[in-house]
Amino acid sequence: MKPLSVKNMGIEESMTLAITAKAKQLKESGVNIVSFGAGEPDFNTPKTIRDCAIARIEKGGIGYTEASGLLELKKAVCNKLKTDNGLNYTTKQIVVSSGAKHSLFNALQAICNPGDEVIIPSPYWVSYYELTKMADAEPILVQAEASNLFKVTAEQLEKAVTPKTKALLINSPNNPTGAVYSKEELMAIGELANKHDLYIISDEIYEKLIYGETHISIASLSDALYERTIVVNGLSKAYAMTGWRIGYTASSETIAKIMSNIQSHATSNPNTIAQYAGIEALNGDQTAIEDMRLAFEARKDYMVKTLHAMPQISCVEPKGAFYVMVDVSAFFGKTIEGVEVKGSMEVAALLIDYANIAVIPGIAFGVDDYIRLSYATSMENIEEGLSRLNKFCETY
Ligand code: PMP
Ligand code: GLU
Repeated sequence: MKPLSVKNMGIEESMTLAITAKAKQLKESGVNIVSFGAGEPDFNTPKTIRDCAIARIEKGGIGYTEASGLLELKKAVCNKLKTDNGLNYTTKQIVVSSGAKHSLFNALQAICNPGDEVIIPSPYWVSYYELTKMADAEPILVQAEASNLFKVTAEQLEKAVTPKTKALLINSPNNPTGAVYSKEELMAIGELANKHDLYIISDEIYEKLIYGETHISIASLSDALYERTIVVNGLSKAYAMTGWRIGYTASSETIAKIMSNIQSHATSNPNTIAQYAGIEALNGDQTAIEDMRLAFEARKDYMVKTLHAMPQISCVEPKGAFYVMVDVSAFFGKTIEGVEVKGSMEVAALLIDYANIAVIPGIAFGVDDYIRLSYATSMENIEEGLSRLNKFCETY
């Protein structure tokens, strides 16, 4: 047999999805696992949105839509971007896709040529790395330090710029650290992008899950930044709609057209029922968002307080999203239950086997000293899971 695609055989499975699936499987087989793995809200999609989808199914007419999404949904997206972010777009600049992950795929495909470099601040969301490779570009990681609340500075980024640099990927609020960039920090990064003529992909999917900070879209800071930025957002996190698969981009018309063309061959339109539900999500009552945000904030406060009381580990308080990064490097070099602990993979495996808690190893996000705990799970689970973690720390 002839060799398969070398490029695609080099793509790793998404560790966040793999561990989340493994935890679900263990639970279903009767193992009492507490999962801190899942990066998805544990709340049900708000009723008005569910009802809208059901009504649409009953009404019929669930055919294909325009490949880049329903005009009504694009209008709702434009309205959201204007109201929430002070951004003016026309519907021709919006592409609705099957989740923000798909939007990111389209964005990287649209701007990258073979050999281009894309700068990604680390810790980074697991898929950025592979999506960049899939676009024939090279991911260039720039390490953010815990001492700077896991934020990279413009100076750090500038050191990574080469003649091959095509784009910067910004994710605020950040998965996995919860870091939120201030207006001043984004201005400095924006100046750098202008100076070196770089595109910016700004992943703002956690915009609504923010604690004590204000979300700023870098595209809103100047006309020049508006021109060079592809804003990525979606409904998964804010509206507890992960499985519905609706994400979107806002960009220049030229980039939107390229992404729309790619999508017209790769997937056609995102699910039509979910698109109608998306109109209701964006245009309807928004109170459910704040209710969920408050619940996440209370869980975050409890998590941080409880983790700070465990002397063997440490964490930086997140300002957004629903994850905490926990420094577990104190376990490295030890032999626990016959396992020589070299990094976050061994810690995560031991935690599943000996504490019955599922976590994501930091190595998936480029930082091996850490594990990621998601607090998109009930307070009850959090209390139980952290008590198991504490016992594990005390035992080993
Ligand atoms: N960006 C980040 C940072 C994420 O954590 C996720 C989570 N899945 C996504 C994008 C993609 O979200 P979705 O495809 O569900 O819209
Ligand atoms: N973004 C979530 C996470 O990081 C969901 C899983 C995924 O899409 O990777 O866990």
